[in-house]
Amino acid sequence: MNDITIIKSERGRDLIVYQSYTFYKEKHINEGVKWCCTHCGCLSKLYLDECSTVIFRCELTHEHEEPRNLSRKIISNSAKTKAADQGIYRPLKIIREEIVNAPVELTQQLNIHNNYYVPLIFALLPNKTIETYKNMFKIIIEKCNEFGLLFMPNLFVADFEQAIHNAINEMFPLCKIIGLATDYRSETEIGKWFRNIFGLSFLNAVEVGESYTDNFMLTIPENHTVQEFSDYLVENYISDEGLFPPHIWASDF
Ligand SMILES: [Zn+2]
Repeated sequence: MNDITIIKSERGRDLIVYQSYTFYKEKHINEGVKWCCTHCGCLSKLYLDECSTVIFRCELTHEHEEPRNLSRKIISNSAKTKAADQGIYRPLKIIREEIVNAPVELTQQLNIHNNYYVPLIFALLPNKTIETYKNMFKIIIEKCNEFGLLFMPNLFVADFEQAIHNAINEMFPLCKIIGLATDYRSETEIGKWFRNIFGLSFLNAVEVGESYTDNFMLTIPENHTVQEFSDYLVENYISDEGLFPPHIWASDF
């Protein structure tokens, strides 16, 4: 990585990443700008032109390790800056955009929701193997321990991927897993009805309520669970008085 990448520090200031080390802007000099290594006590310096695009001199004397978890920091700092700038922007949207634009390889974003469908954990994973999922759960467990919390779910609703089911079975042998595949994927009336629900997020916020009444309430399959799901959805997501009213999650195109 010999290119210069500009990223955001935790406080939203510009940092340069060069050869996997980070530099902060120290001062303007006659020929351009002097940047110093962010590691305390390290004297490494870069001298760049005013636009911070060309290095015309460098003195690299790092005697320390490269900063750890740089790719994760790049994404989380940039997302934090955007969240602070644009308070009403949806967090999930900010995070997705940062992942898409990240200068690092990440193949999978995984969200873990609580039982009220509130996304609580965002994981950026390099692949979809059992080992990766198990490591993710170990990190979550450790993090929870740090906060004095116990991560010991007794029920998981996960999607169709076998690797995550296997990882859950190994990590939480007593946990029950519900796959959404059966109902959601089937070509039955219930399956189609469920799938169309996801289209609501493409509507304008003001159209959601009416569309739900016209297209979903009137066609709801006769099924106790679906009815319960619908009541829950209306109370929390469709109603303007709900916890997560349409203007939070509907499209703003
Ligand atoms: Zn250094």
